[in-house]
Amino acid sequence: MPIRAEVSNLASERASRRFKIINNTLSTFSSRILEETVTEFSRLPGIGKRTALRLVLHLLKASKEDSSRLGEALVRLHSEVKYCSICHNISEKEVCEVCSDPKRDRQFLCIVEDIRDVIAIENTQQYKGIITYWEV
Ligand SMILES: [Zn+2]
Repeated sequence: MPIRAEVSNLASERASRRFKIINNTLSTFSSRILEETVTEFSRLPGIGKRTALRLVLHLLKASKEDSSRLGEALVRLHSEVKYCSICHNISEKEVCEVCSDPKRDRQFLCIVEDIRDVIAIENTQQYKGIITYWEV
């Protein structure tokens, strides 16, 4: 391991140790902004305080451009992504690529329970009918 990477890892370990986790709560923050960022990350599903802190410290160590790209992607997620007016699949246009594709066989309609299933089926590039999801 290069010396620079070792020094960086040691600094990261020391920073992690500074934040003692007691009763699943981070007890010490050296920055209000750091605390707020960790809190926001920990609101995501499956992300606890420890993981949130690890991710935030990673971003802090990474370049400013990496963090900016993440922030811009999150802003664009809500401002540019919408739901297709026909099938309600996720799209960046009023009508999604599936519904606007003239090669799709409209005799077949596949309804799945989760948008992730739509993505998985579309990624196979084998299904040529119309597809949508219906959350229960
Ligand atoms: Zn559609």
